[in-house]
Amino acid sequence: LDVPDHPIIPVLHGDGIGKDVGPAAQTVLTAAAEATGHDIAWMDVYAGEDSREMYDENLPEETVEAIREHRVAIKGPLTTPVGSGFRSLNVALRKKLDLYANVRPTYYLDGVPSPVKNPEEMDMVNFRENTEDVYAGIEWEAGTDDVEQVREFVEDDMGFDETIHQGDVGIGVKPITEYGTKRLVRRAIEYAIENDRDSVTLVHKGNIMKFTEGAFRDWGYEVAEEDFPEQTIDEDTLWEEYDGEAPEDKVVVKDRIADNMLQQLLTRTTNYDVLAMPNLNGDYLSDSAGAQIGGLGIAPGANFGDGRVLAEPVHGSAPKHAGKDKANPTAMILSGKLMLEYIGWDDAADLVHEAVENQISEHRVTYDLERQVEGGVKLSTSEFADEVVERIEDLA
Ligand code: NAD
Repeated sequence: LDVPDHPIIPVLHGDGIGKDVGPAAQTVLTAAAEATGHDIAWMDVYAGEDSREMYDENLPEETVEAIREHRVAIKGPLTTPVGSGFRSLNVALRKKLDLYANVRPTYYLDGVPSPVKNPEEMDMVNFRENTEDVYAGIEWEAGTDDVEQVREFVEDDMGFDETIHQGDVGIGVKPITEYGTKRLVRRAIEYAIENDRDSVTLVHKGNIMKFTEGAFRDWGYEVAEEDFPEQTIDEDTLWEEYDGEAPEDKVVVKDRIADNMLQQLLTRTTNYDVLAMPNLNGDYLSDSAGAQIGGLGIAPGANFGDGRVLAEPVHGSAPKHAGKDKANPTAMILSGKLMLEYIGWDDAADLVHEAVENQISEHRVTYDLERQVEGGVKLSTSEFADEVVERIEDLA
């Protein structure tokens, strides 16, 4: 991405533990940038609790505008109160900025406790569509006049069976568009080509939901054929023409049913590489993959639009641990690493990676990992970050 030599990067610490892990990550990212001759100017922006206090609103336009203008930003978690009718600020932010791809790399860091036998085999990048599917929020509440109208329409036109579906009903709509699917899959394939990955797997439930998830699969193959005819090969052709051995310069495009994919994630991890998924499958699958490489304290992510990125960890605001200087900042730091890669500062990103991995492999970690490893030394959020900074300075 073409960014200025001295970029201004909006940073939104967010709610709960965001205020612990946000500043910790900033310290580490600043150190890595400086050590490699780059210069970041941070710009604080606000949403959630802070902005309710300061501006009496949840998501000020200034925040959205700053991210839009500077194109590269990082955020911590924002709390969404359950059942309050309060719309998720994260979803609102992603929509306003049209951040259509949620990208979660899942790779193993040496020393991280994992529930699976060979966690080091895990090295995947999950592309989850971020704007469509059942998360579009098109639903009607049971007991309202509106839902009754929708129900009548469904009954008349689609054979909704009153003898089975008795009583109240809530109804939702699952939009999956050709445009939304193709731009997501295109991005996943581009990533696979640029990063020398072997395959892109389209994960869907097209066997049951033919016109939505089935369409996702079909449009996914279409975009591979139309936009990357020389660089990709589909799985059928791979077996018919190459006996299953992919030529080095081709990315194999294949598809798997989502439930099967969830178990293959555990049993045949090495067969998969980049995954492209509609919103709901992507949500489940990337959390499950994240658990295999150490869980929420570790798992990084970023939301991409065209020409912009908003990095953010997978975890939420964990209110129980907020303000105690104890949460694990690794996920936030590694989300920052993704941001550095996107702006082309690979030297700084590599330094962050190496320093964090060295730190964790010596089991000098925060509470969440310390209780799972033998001989671990428990550090606070800020101590962990300070030690990582020292390692960066030593490595540089
Ligand atoms: P959560 O991720 O906040 O916390 C679940 C548990 O995971 C915590 O209790 C804690 O034990 C552990 N955990 C999470 N992050 C950790 C870290 N960095 N270090 C150590 N332990 C960590 O999930 P939740 O409790 O379901 O959600 C709390 C709030 O966060 C909700 O309001 C939810 O809507 C919001 N949320 C926001 C985002 C986001 O901003 N992108 C994502 C998920 C949840």
